[in-house]
Amino acid sequence: MTLTADRKTIFITNPDTKEAHSLYKYGKSVEFDDDTQQDVFTPSNINISTIKDVYNAAQLQSKLNNISCQVEYGLMFAFLSSFDVDGPLTNVLSYRCCNFRLNRDTGLCSNSSCASSLADTTEQTLTFDMRVSLSDHTGTVAGTYLTNNLVQELLGCTVDEFMQLPEARKTDLKWSYLLEKCKVYFKVVPSGFNGANNTLRLLACERADPKEVYNNFKLV
Ligand SMILES: [Zn+2]
Repeated sequence: MTLTADRKTIFITNPDTKEAHSLYKYGKSVEFDDDTQQDVFTPSNINISTIKDVYNAAQLQSKLNNISCQVEYGLMFAFLSSFDVDGPLTNVLSYRCCNFRLNRDTGLCSNSSCASSLADTTEQTLTFDMRVSLSDHTGTVAGTYLTNNLVQELLGCTVDEFMQLPEARKTDLKWSYLLEKCKVYFKVVPSGFNGANNTLRLLACERADPKEVYNNFKLV
């Protein structure tokens, strides 16, 4: 069976069956970028070792701007030109319910279809929620959203552990990636034809092997 869901799908654990619980868990485990109005849901279950197409920042930006109908995958070698993990906590963390941010003023789920807004049972889960900029010699792709899981992998700690870190350690973590050449795997999700930009999702980010960077270097 293929499970599909979209941002309006609500998972409810009632009736109390094994299937309902696993579907609920599945729904909770999937991350959405709630910054796009029309998000095409496709689970990122691709094996990243199969992603071979290399792009530079200018090429990736034009992919984001151009109308497209299909999900595309690629990788780029880029510097993280902003990685503000030692900045204000509001730039690093956010409370979420059903993967949507809570409105900071009202404390309510920003998903208008969320059952919690009717039942007044908004869940509050603190998650990593930050953006990075990816730069190379052709330009910068700014404001790229990092999923909670990817930030956890990069920092090597959970949100709870991060909250306990002294500021100096956060700054160390920042400089362990900032301005380092990274190999970044990405997915571009088409926006459809509503005029919005396509959505960029980062699938993985690791420090790049200098030899591999050299072999893949393109002037334009
Ligand atoms: Zn919600």
